[in-house]
Amino acid sequence: MIDFRSDTVTRPSEKMRQVMASALVGDDVYGDDTTVNDLELWAAERHGFEAAIYCTSGTQANLLALMAHCDRGDEYLCGQQAHNYKFEGGGAAVLGSIQPQPLENDADGSIPFSKLTAAIKPLDPHFARTKLLSLENTINGKVLPLEYIQQAREFVNQHGLQMHLDGARVYNAAVAMNVDITEIVKYFDSFTICLSKGLGAPVGSLLLGDKALIAKARRWRKVLGGGMRQAGIIAAAGKLALTENIERLADDHHNARYLAEQLNTVEGFSVNLQHIQTNMAFAKVDQHINQTQLIATLKQQDILISGGNPMRFVTHLDITTADIDTFIAALKSAL
Ligand SMILES: *Cc1c(COP(=O)(O)O)cnc(C)c1O
Repeated sequence: MIDFRSDTVTRPSEKMRQVMASALVGDDVYGDDTTVNDLELWAAERHGFEAAIYCTSGTQANLLALMAHCDRGDEYLCGQQAHNYKFEGGGAAVLGSIQPQPLENDADGSIPFSKLTAAIKPLDPHFARTKLLSLENTINGKVLPLEYIQQAREFVNQHGLQMHLDGARVYNAAVAMNVDITEIVKYFDSFTICLSKGLGAPVGSLLLGDKALIAKARRWRKVLGGGMRQAGIIAAAGKLALTENIERLADDHHNARYLAEQLNTVEGFSVNLQHIQTNMAFAKVDQHINQTQLIATLKQQDILISGGNPMRFVTHLDITTADIDTFIAALKSAL
């Protein structure tokens, strides 16, 4: 299969499967799983944070962060396009009694400070209590400018808020900017990393924060049914992903650009190359193209794409440059 739908489709390498098979495990709810403990301690130290918690998914890690920062009747400020507003089933409201305050993102994924300032509620029984600013990096494949993040830190300090990063793909941002990950995450009170996307682990995300925040998150994780037992089996893959699969993200970024360039040679497809910053390309697709038929034709040739307009293509460790050539040839002949 050549699968462009998402970087979540990556499968564990042979080496990763071996590391998983030989992982030392115990009951993680008792704190006895050596491999989970090692991953959490290592990740905290590596990223300059006090503590980390291994979670079942990015959605759970974000929800734990929101529930640890905010109490019932509090609110978080976020982008209208934020994953933890738009794509997580309204979990903060459903399960946390936390109100989202979404605000329109600018084209680069930032949220203007004028809008954020205007959205902060006065302390008054009429209003939810504004507690947190939640940002996302990368957001739709775009890297949030470091200067904006610095200014956001000053903004939250000024207003007595906390700041969370949905960093599902924050390593893509660090690799694209060629900076150490700590240069991005040091501005935040908490952040998440998805191990199961471009980093290539089969399951899991991390939430990092200070000890008090992670202790709260640990309680909520149990309440949400996320207390796992011999989770070292999957945590072992997460550690390998974080230690061995970072630098190669640059290949995915090159491949996304190559894919975009090739798509621009296909009639009816057009990608703005200036928007390619990491591992995603968004193509405008001519209205006359029958997408349903196209998707089915390509599927018969073991090529999977998402529909939509723009159509999103994601590169990852199971996509090579040769796969892109195969896809472009199949696309041209299908059209
Ligand atoms: C994928 C993703 C998540 C959620 O991760 P899951 O593991 O799919 O729950 C959160 N935020 C962003 C930006 C994501 O891309």
